[in-house]
Amino acid sequence: MTKAIADAYSALRREFHGDLLRPGDEDYANARVIWNEMVAPTPGLIARCADVADVRAAVRIAAAAGVLTAIRCGGHSLAGFGTCDDGLVIDLSRMRHVSVGEETRRARFDGGCLLGTIDSATQKVGLAFPSGVVSHTGAAGLVLGGGTGWLNRLHGLSCDNVEGFTLVIADGSVIHANAKENADLFWALRGGGGNFGVVTEFEVKLHPVNSVLFGAGMCIGDDIPAIVQHWRDFMPEAPDNLRWGISLTIAPDTENVPAHVRGRPVASHGLLWVGDIEQGRSYVDRGLSICNPVSVTKNELSFLNLQTMADHEFPHGRRYYTKSGYFKSLSDQDIHRMAEALATIPSSTSQIELSYLGGAAGRVAAGETAFGDRSSPFIVNLLGNWSDPADDPANVAWVRNPFAELRPSMTPGVYVNFMSGDEQERVPEAYRERWDRLVDVKTHFDPNNFFRLNQNVRPRKK
Ligand SMILES: Cc1cc2nc3c(=O)[nH]c(=O)nc-3n(C[C@H](O)[C@H](O)[C@H](O)COP(=O)(O)OP(=O)(O)OC[C@H]3O[C@@H](n4cnc5c(N)ncnc54)[C@H](O)[C@@H]3O)c2cc1C
Repeated sequence: MTKAIADAYSALRREFHGDLLRPGDEDYANARVIWNEMVAPTPGLIARCADVADVRAAVRIAAAAGVLTAIRCGGHSLAGFGTCDDGLVIDLSRMRHVSVGEETRRARFDGGCLLGTIDSATQKVGLAFPSGVVSHTGAAGLVLGGGTGWLNRLHGLSCDNVEGFTLVIADGSVIHANAKENADLFWALRGGGGNFGVVTEFEVKLHPVNSVLFGAGMCIGDDIPAIVQHWRDFMPEAPDNLRWGISLTIAPDTENVPAHVRGRPVASHGLLWVGDIEQGRSYVDRGLSICNPVSVTKNELSFLNLQTMADHEFPHGRRYYTKSGYFKSLSDQDIHRMAEALATIPSSTSQIELSYLGGAAGRVAAGETAFGDRSSPFIVNLLGNWSDPADDPANVAWVRNPFAELRPSMTPGVYVNFMSGDEQERVPEAYRERWDRLVDVKTHFDPNNFFRLNQNVRPRKK
């Protein structure tokens, strides 16, 4: 244990209400682990906060002692920013309260909530907050980076639905950021990640959502590039109620997949209709009828089933590596390159994920929030997912090589929540014309860069 951590521990013990965990303590081994096993450092101290007073104490004491500090909500940062070696982790997992206003269609949730915590609370009254597609993801990291998911074409990104933040800034004080108070910070927090403080409460808008219609199909062989081309040509005209995404991957060895397709490269696609289900049937049926699908399912689902449907595909404790980018349009050659990359995939659980933003999320003006480019609607995400450390080089190379080939066709820009930890030079690119304003806000609220374990916006030098 470093002297700085030992000093921070002694100071915190006097006033902390939550748990202070050091290497060797009973709960430490569990508390140390984050979602991506590729990142497994050993923090000197994990401060599992019970309340806002704990967060304030941890920030104040760590900042004064110059202790490297990570903030953790769900621990799902692909880059592993929710932890650090030898330093302090401010762990918010005990702060998961949600309160829902049915009449006002608003909710307030704590900075440690998982997506599933919020969905369970809001669905009790038939409402939903637009967030991500895996319920064990942390809401704070997702919302602060932007937040894409099933509802963003209809209701905007997660960050577009935030009306206010309460946060602890680097000097330990608690402030609010909304349209009236600290408006520049309010702008920066909607897409600028964890750069500005520890958000202890989010105030958000909710929308009525009950059941939805979801169809899924798989195409093989020459139908793989063909379905991507259909999708590319159709999505710019698609209604906001339709979210259609494609994953280029390996067909799983499961009962619902025909035996001759299991283990083969496929374009696995899912069509979601949110709204009047009868109106949506023709869209979903049409999508499922093209390019000779070998396996088709179609169901009306509850919103909670939709939100947990992909949970098992991304378990904790595996190894993950990602690279991502935006395209204004996808050429046949880009699609061909992706199909070639699919043919060399080293792990059956890796994938090239294709999604189309547009809709309500695409109509928010570029300067309205700090979130990156909304004018390039195609998002391509190469996601390596494997389990044996011996396979790290092959899997990392599989992500990097097709990314390098596709990069020249991409629009400059990247979604910060789909970046790995080795892409610091791309952070200004993520924000482009929003960069200088973000740096101004960072310099004002965190001049010493206390909050630096994130896709970091560095403050100006004094
Ligand atoms: C399985 C999986 C599914 C995903 N699906 C989606 C998806 O559908 N849509 C999407 O947009 N993204 C998705 N992502 C990406 C996700 O948005 C990011 O990984 C995000 O960082 C996760 O947030 P977290 O709170 O779990 O992360 P953590 O690792 O806890 O934190 C991530 C970052 O946020 C900061 N942070 C965390 N909590 C706070 C807080 N309270 N105040 C201030 N800063 C804080 C941390 O310092 C860190 O820099 C997914 C990721 C995974 C692993």
